[in-house]
Amino acid sequence: MSDAPINLLDFDPQGLTQYFASVGERPYRATQIVKWVHQQGVIELDAMTNLSRALRERLAAETVFRLPEIMTVQESDDGTLKWLLRVDNGNCIETVYIPEAERGTLCVSSQVGCAVNCSFCATAKQGFSRNLSTAEIIGQVWIAARHLGQNPKTHRHITNVVMMGMGEPLMNFERVVPAMRLMLDDSAYNLGRRRVTLSTAGMVPGMDRLREECPVSLAVSLHAPEDALRDVLVPLNRTYPLAELLAACKRYVADSPHDQITFEYVMLDGVNDSPAQARDLAKLLRGIPAKLNLIPFNPIEGADYSCSPQSRILEFRQILQKAGYVTTTRKTRGDDIDAACGQLVGKVLARAARHRKVHAEATALRAGA
Ligand code: SAH
Repeated sequence: MSDAPINLLDFDPQGLTQYFASVGERPYRATQIVKWVHQQGVIELDAMTNLSRALRERLAAETVFRLPEIMTVQESDDGTLKWLLRVDNGNCIETVYIPEAERGTLCVSSQVGCAVNCSFCATAKQGFSRNLSTAEIIGQVWIAARHLGQNPKTHRHITNVVMMGMGEPLMNFERVVPAMRLMLDDSAYNLGRRRVTLSTAGMVPGMDRLREECPVSLAVSLHAPEDALRDVLVPLNRTYPLAELLAACKRYVADSPHDQITFEYVMLDGVNDSPAQARDLAKLLRGIPAKLNLIPFNPIEGADYSCSPQSRILEFRQILQKAGYVTTTRKTRGDDIDAACGQLVGKVLARAARHRKVHAEATALRAGA
């Protein structure tokens, strides 16, 4: 066995129950801990007054609650928040909170960097460092929930979580699923399964496992209506081409007649945005309960793409709508702090110092944690 202390944030409720069983404690201890940590935001053992003193001492000796460290919190002009979180000596990740009138969405990272290498994505450019642990994934939700709850000026909440930050979540299945189980658990964050969305570049085997083990809302990054183009934009397509991907999408929703798959489609000028491509897309998705979300391309360093003009996005959308698909255009949020889709690159620590609007509250929160 390793000597590293057990991080209690690595466990979902079932894992905690097993842990307590293994040390001869009663199963309800798991629910008590989950409530303290994830419902109340408390990680100080001394404050957990319904645990016996002996148990608290034991936990203090054998376990820790280790969270990512907050480096900076930036606020965009539109209210979007972005955390730069340090997960070890060399690596940082980013988490984004997007407030809207009726909801507040937290965009959570699953890996440091990404191995999929989509040609238009900034995270891809930094390469892949490592998977995040469950603690590092749910820690992003813990930190954001606590920050939002502590801010006296607002009553902002996390109503939705999207696994759309850095990384390909289905390539870190074993750690992402326990984190999502905590998001769903009614003793923890209590989000309905339609309020937790996992976005994938098209990891077919992971999609099938997810359907079996944790059927949250699914979003698929499609970006092209045919294989030759998708091979270039999303290289994972060479392993799981469109026919296989779409068959997996059908399986995903087969048993739940009210579910839909969201297809994300980044709008790249002159690449994938012609009326003919919109018609091909409509044809391709026939028979799948699908919504479409068009994402205006956010410029990134080192990629030779530009965003489609607004008139073309509108025309593209209208073709899909006429074909019967609910089609929305994603609003670009937080682009002034590089928090928009495809712009997350939390790696280099020195970058933090250069950012504008670094909030002192980051330090305050860290001190209080
Ligand atoms: N790896 C997962 C999760 C990332 S979600 C996935 O691919 O689905 C982030 C979404 O933003 C994906 O649809 C991604 O393709 C898209 N995206 C990446 N770079 C972008 C950019 N520069 N502009 C707009 N959208 C981008």
